[in-house]
Amino acid sequence: MGLMVMKFGGTSVADAERIRRAARRAIKAKTAGNDVVMVVSAMGKTTDKLISLAEEISESPPQREMDMLLTTGEQVSISLMAMAIDAAGHQAISLTGGQIGLLTDAVHMKARIQKIDADRIRQEFKQGRIVIVAGFQGVDESGEITTLGRGASDTTALALAAVLKAKVCEIYTDVDGIYTTDPRIEEKARKIDKISYDEMLELASLGAGVMHSRAIEFGKKYNVEIHVRSSFTDTKGTIITKEVEQMEDIVVSGAAVKKDLAQFILVGLPNTPGIAANLFAHVARHDVVVDDIIQTVDESGNANTSFTVEHSDLAECKLVMEEVRKEFNAKEVVCIDPVAKVSVVGVGMRSHTGVAQKMFGALAQAQVNINAITTSEIKISCIIDPSDANKALQAIHAAFELDKEPKDA
Ligand code: ADP
Ligand code: ASP
Ligand code: MG
Repeated sequence: MGLMVMKFGGTSVADAERIRRAARRAIKAKTAGNDVVMVVSAMGKTTDKLISLAEEISESPPQREMDMLLTTGEQVSISLMAMAIDAAGHQAISLTGGQIGLLTDAVHMKARIQKIDADRIRQEFKQGRIVIVAGFQGVDESGEITTLGRGASDTTALALAAVLKAKVCEIYTDVDGIYTTDPRIEEKARKIDKISYDEMLELASLGAGVMHSRAIEFGKKYNVEIHVRSSFTDTKGTIITKEVEQMEDIVVSGAAVKKDLAQFILVGLPNTPGIAANLFAHVARHDVVVDDIIQTVDESGNANTSFTVEHSDLAECKLVMEEVRKEFNAKEVVCIDPVAKVSVVGVGMRSHTGVAQKMFGALAQAQVNINAITTSEIKISCIIDPSDANKALQAIHAAFELDKEPKDA
């Protein structure tokens, strides 16, 4: 007997008919002889609506209360899903993060999973039930409700697939797979059949909102294949899996853009050992997540350090930078808000040259100014003005001919 973990995103459970459709998929898998876990997100735009409501009430709502509020969204959809399965004559039970023992750290709104106790789920399997788990939520050691960050129902699904030792985790969404870039921005985006964990991890962290990046980390670590597919059709989607040799033949697999960023530049720091360590210790203590760190030394011998943060961390980061400026007697803290980041990703970059030149050439031709550049072994990112973001993405997509089937595939 097999085990299926199926995750349904917000659009896939947006109304009663869609909930019934998702329920039918799970029932089909169950009657084919599998144990079935469904991980379900809040209906449609519920989470966005709850956030707006909180913002109407308070300028800075306590994060604990935000988690209390946001987790109600998933509680609605899991109970309705269980009712849909019951109404179709099958057995199901809905469970919250707390009820399945999904233990997280205590960082509200971006908690990380520490442990999952799969016993409860296994007991429910023994009773012949389809288990419906609320995505995106957990509890910390003291029983406080936490959430795992926007879009993190994917991560709940992959974490469950890992502890239950599933071979595949199915992610049902409103697109029929992973595309070379966001099809909402570039209509020529092409569906990818197979992509490596590392490439998808980069794409997801760099703005491809189709998957939560920590979900890919779980998939990679525990060797669970991820099948991203449409909840509206039966067509095969995209498989996210281990890298195989041929993947290196494709130089660039995809492009992504992230718009919700701000860049901090600390000007005139002492150029002495321990400054960066101290600076980022402050940042870490406040649970601020930073990226794109660049440090240079100017002609007067001072260090200048820049990095990006997501908007959700902006207010906190401003406070931290003021602390840091005073402590190190830095000349100035500059905050450029907003900025965007456009990136290309591909494992083939390791063995091919000319990628940077092609990317910068495409941006130059599109008259997009580059404010900073960061690279890793398999990606190149440029910090640009958000008003150029879509144009830049389209220019890069065209330059790397991502709309065409790769020649060597
Ligand atoms: P769900 O609610 O099912 O989790 P999301 O909205 O989180 O769905 O993710 C699906 C959306 O991700 C798509 O509608 C698409 O616009 C967007 N997206 C961004 N980048 C990509 C990409 N590279 N491939 C496919 N979809 C993408
Ligand atoms: N409902 C949550 C969100 O909108 C989690 C998810 O959908 O993955 O962010
Ligand atoms: Mg999502």
